[in-house]
Amino acid sequence: QWVKVRERLRVEVGDVEYRTWLQQIVLGPLEEDEITLFLPTRFLRDWVRGQYGDRLQELWRNENRAVHHVELQVQRVGDALAAPVAVEAAVPAVEIEAPVAQVASVQDARHDLAAPLDPRFTFDSFVVGKPNEFAYACARRVAEKPSSPGFNPLFLYGGVGLGKTHLMHAIGSELTSGGRVSVAYMSAEKFMYRFIAAIRSQSTMEFKEQLRSVDVLMIDDLQFLIGKDNTQEEFFHTFNALVDAGRQIVVSADKSPSDLSGLEDRLRTRLGCGMVADIHATTFELRISILEAKALASGVAVPAKVLEFLAHKITSNVRELEGALNRLIAHANLFGRSVTLESTQDVLHDILKAHDRRVTIEEIQRKVSEHWNIRLTDMSSARRARAVARPRQVAMYLAKQLTSRSLPEIGRKFGNRDHTTVMHAVSRVQELMERDVAFAEDVELLRRMLEG
Ligand code: ADP
Ligand code: MG
Repeated sequence: QWVKVRERLRVEVGDVEYRTWLQQIVLGPLEEDEITLFLPTRFLRDWVRGQYGDRLQELWRNENRAVHHVELQVQRVGDALAAPVAVEAAVPAVEIEAPVAQVASVQDARHDLAAPLDPRFTFDSFVVGKPNEFAYACARRVAEKPSSPGFNPLFLYGGVGLGKTHLMHAIGSELTSGGRVSVAYMSAEKFMYRFIAAIRSQSTMEFKEQLRSVDVLMIDDLQFLIGKDNTQEEFFHTFNALVDAGRQIVVSADKSPSDLSGLEDRLRTRLGCGMVADIHATTFELRISILEAKALASGVAVPAKVLEFLAHKITSNVRELEGALNRLIAHANLFGRSVTLESTQDVLHDILKAHDRRVTIEEIQRKVSEHWNIRLTDMSSARRARAVARPRQVAMYLAKQLTSRSLPEIGRKFGNRDHTTVMHAVSRVQELMERDVAFAEDVELLRRMLEG
């Protein structure tokens, strides 16, 4: 079982991380529902507990239902070997693996200074629109001419899933494709692991030298260093050494340098010295362009209506938008069926529910009746006069667009009307919007108000 758990972990975290942190784990006894694992130092024990504790527990449970808890304990090499009898008594098939010398494992890590670049994240696959055009232009510029005055450091910031990592990888790929430039890209988190591993193996000098030998250093998600004072300090020195030597630095974070409180002042100041580029939240237009590009690349025909629907519903970030589209495409490929609005709502039911902007049908009814000055009760009344029926249809249309309620559910909220009535209302409103610009503007205005 332990062999299996270890192998799974190795596959999940990759060889380097595995060797650096996990290889030295020694299997201890299984008692009742608790399995004990030994690590040679407290440092490693705490680290493994913090980083991999939950996952270890899950993996063990998958292998052996009886295991409810994984206990991590410190046991030095000598101790482990001194107590094999007790261990063996508890678990018959125990293996005692001699921990590998620490220095050796970190040396391996050193060869792998930079994380690999994702080949999918290129400038070509990045869709440019108003919210990201400035950041995109800066990234391109740095990729063309690293270390140009005014662009060093390049600081990219913006919310989650808006393309920061994508742009950094694109810079890296562009620069390394020429072959002559050495680029190191890593997350701030990785930077910290590496730094700590170097301290532990007393190889900080090599670590520093290696970092300072690159032409371009890119550190992703710098906000991770908040509160990690020693690592910040180290990064600050590396940063200065590189900039002084005319090398390019690219950094990303979720906030602007001035808003990254918790970073040392002098570091913040230096980060803001070059080019600071903000990636703004996506607009509807950008979301549509991104969806179109990704749908095209997938080779699956996705109707424009579906793309619009997704762009309306999933506004948080590109990653989620992409995730939703990928699921649709996978589904279409798997079942050989074409994508329709109905199948979309079905396949993405859970995602859409989570993204419901929690606009309620009641809210829609209220806003629409206020807008056309009719009584709220007329939303569910039987009156069919145009002055009442038209707003009611608009409200149904908006309910369909802005919530993930089904047609029958919507019908029920409008005085128990049938789902075909709702369907008719939706298509009627669409028709009118195409023919009557003023009406279309009214509806769009209402939609925007409701979306907040
Ligand atoms: P961040 O690092 O800002 O959290 P990522 O760069 O990881 O975001 O982007 C999340 C996902 O969205 C990635 O798969 C990325 O390729 C995609 N993505 C983000 N912005 C764009 C864009 N403008 N064009 C194409 N794909 C994008
Ligand atoms: Mg990122």
